[in-house]
Amino acid sequence: MTFYEDMSLYTYWDGGESFTDVTTGYRFLSFEPQYERVNVGWLSGDQPWASGVAPAGFIEKLEAVLAVQAVNQMMGLHDCELCPPSDKQPPESYEPRPGHRRSSVGTGEIRIPARPDTAFAAPVLVGHYVVDHGYLPPTTFIDAVLEFDPSGHGSAEYPWVRFPWIPEDAVHYDASVE
Ligand SMILES: [Zn+2]
Repeated sequence: MTFYEDMSLYTYWDGGESFTDVTTGYRFLSFEPQYERVNVGWLSGDQPWASGVAPAGFIEKLEAVLAVQAVNQMMGLHDCELCPPSDKQPPESYEPRPGHRRSSVGTGEIRIPARPDTAFAAPVLVGHYVVDHGYLPPTTFIDAVLEFDPSGHGSAEYPWVRFPWIPEDAVHYDASVE
């Protein structure tokens, strides 16, 4: 998987955001982000990463975000490079391995509002990295996750999407009109 250093600027996908709220079924809202994106958790097997114990409540909160958001989901599967090769499951499987709470493959990203006009951009695998590998993200990311309410309301234009920064001109892909 593509490696990006924590806190570097997001460049993975420059085609705008495609945002899905899994809980409401609102899928593929696409828009040009009006916020800057900062990478966290784009780990790779051959690059060092920080490990440590996350503060109380962080993992639960992160998993709550992962249960709601699916951003840029079309970008394909990411296989965990930190798991031993013998442990790998077929990439087409979405099931967590025995003893693991999250799947070791991911199909998208999440966004966490940070300071004004900046959102953290993390692959969905970040949950697996934290829970199963003891990855400790930067403190600013942890604080932002703890502060973010993924069950809260969205913007005025898209109150049903649980992310506050969906702009007015977002385009909703509606499969029923094809
Ligand atoms: Zn892994």
